[in-house]
Amino acid sequence: MKALFSLSPRALASWCEEHGGRAFHGGIVRREALSRGLERFEEMTSLPRRLRAALAAEFSLSSGDEVDRRVAPDGTTKLLLAFEEPTRVTVECVFIPSTRPGRGATLCVSTQAGCPVGCPFCASGLEGLERNLASHEIVEQFRRGAQLGPISRAVVMGIGEPLLNLEALTTALETVREGIELGARKVTVSSVGFPGRLRRAARSKPRFQLAISLHSPDQDQRDRLVPALAGVPIEEVLAAGDDWFTQTGREVTYEYVLLGGENDSLGHAERLAERLRGRRATINLIPYNPTPSIPFERPRPERVQAFVEVLTAAGQVATVRRPRGLEQAAACGQLRLSRSGGDREG
Ligand code: SAH
Ligand code: SF4
Repeated sequence: MKALFSLSPRALASWCEEHGGRAFHGGIVRREALSRGLERFEEMTSLPRRLRAALAAEFSLSSGDEVDRRVAPDGTTKLLLAFEEPTRVTVECVFIPSTRPGRGATLCVSTQAGCPVGCPFCASGLEGLERNLASHEIVEQFRRGAQLGPISRAVVMGIGEPLLNLEALTTALETVREGIELGARKVTVSSVGFPGRLRRAARSKPRFQLAISLHSPDQDQRDRLVPALAGVPIEEVLAAGDDWFTQTGREVTYEYVLLGGENDSLGHAERLAERLRGRRATINLIPYNPTPSIPFERPRPERVQAFVEVLTAAGQVATVRRPRGLEQAAACGQLRLSRSGGDREG
């Protein structure tokens, strides 16, 4: 049976019209399936009965199975989902409840099974790329997430490099935008920043915020930490970030994984501030979350603090990502890896 959300919003509208319904019924299906998390078309009572039957005869609402779930004491919930077609793969999505009462959760989603970029500190890239996710497999993560509670933000920071599967992601976000009312400012896509792809994306009226994973102010070190971009000058990545700001009017966030003893010295902080001088951007520091079998270390807390102070003194805006639900949920990519047997010491 075909996955319903393999149809784009426009294709679903046409399908409804061809099957005795109206174009706007497509929007109702999306809302019922995504914000209410319904599992069966029969429950969508605001649709004409005949249309419900026609949908049920042709489509399945769900396109994957939950194969594992970890719930941390703070409510952070990591789901491992399996998708079967055309080949079986597993990916993770993470539901992160807000610490502020009354606020919806943040959902972290994956775009690829594995990742071809190969950053040596990241569990997602350890075994390379299995395949891109289809748009309905990305939507399925939102459908499952919304079943856990209201979602008010999404971050595309799960497994995979979103710019290498941008078409499927864009279609998925179109579906989700209406289904759970996530506007452009509520969705952040994180990328290592392929300059050509970024510039093209900036011109396609992207409906999301951009975060670029920079990780080092030094060319040789960034070449090692982001192997798929080895040889691409950092200045070109930053210039593509500037272009994004010019085209979209939305500031870029630069992400920087702090690896103890590797890229967390005060000299790194000074050179990073120098690279970003004059740019309107936020720096998001992410203390490394250790993964078994990966030889990097968490930075010392006083080092993280000193790094922030150097950046702030240089006029930069820097934030530190706080680990949530670490005890059980682990960093993105780790659950999938441990289930595939790649987590040799875990
Ligand atoms: N491929 C994209 C998006 C997914 S990774 C990217 O790299 O930007 C999202 C962020 O998590 C990236 O900044 C990445 O460097 C970071 N990350 C990966 N593994 C990590 C780990 N073990 N600890 C802390 N951050 C990690
Ligand atoms: Fe891929 Fe991002 Fe992990 Fe690098 S950090 S391997 S780009 S998922």
